[in-house]
Amino acid sequence: MNCVFCSIINRKTPAEIIYEDSLVISFLDIRPFNFGHTLVVPKHHSEDLLSVPEEYLSRLFLKVQDISGAVVRGLGAAGFNVLSNNGPAAGQTVFHCHIHIIPRFDTDPFKFKMNLKKYNDGEMRLTGDKIRLFLPPQEK
Ligand code: 5GP
Ligand code: ZN
Repeated sequence: MNCVFCSIINRKTPAEIIYEDSLVISFLDIRPFNFGHTLVVPKHHSEDLLSVPEEYLSRLFLKVQDISGAVVRGLGAAGFNVLSNNGPAAGQTVFHCHIHIIPRFDTDPFKFKMNLKKYNDGEMRLTGDKIRLFLPPQEK
């Protein structure tokens, strides 16, 4: 399999590694939105967030929080975005699940909120119904 993130995990491709444990690795994105743009990656080859095994998930998101805090404090950022592109339609280019942490500064030019839509009467409820139908049973 030809996966650049597996190759980083296996030390075949060099990367600026920020953090690593038995389940998760984190390194700087090679083409950052801002310096310090960091990726957090489960050490299991899963194509996207939906296919990450449960035992990796909680560690993944715990580390997203820890590393976000370190990125913000280390770089003096004013804020940060956490995002994950899943599927080509969402802009995913590396098909090994990863979470982006992007430090933000008051002066930076990026705008993530473009072309926001509006619900007409009843559409919000209908949309909610479509999603709720596919949720797993609620845990107590
Ligand atoms: P996606 O577009 O799938 O959400 O994000 C993939 C990210 O991986 C991109 O932001 C891209 O810059 C980064 N990337 C791709 N190849 C490499 C690489 O070899 N090393 C590092 N550090 N980042 C990479
Ligand atoms: Zn992989």
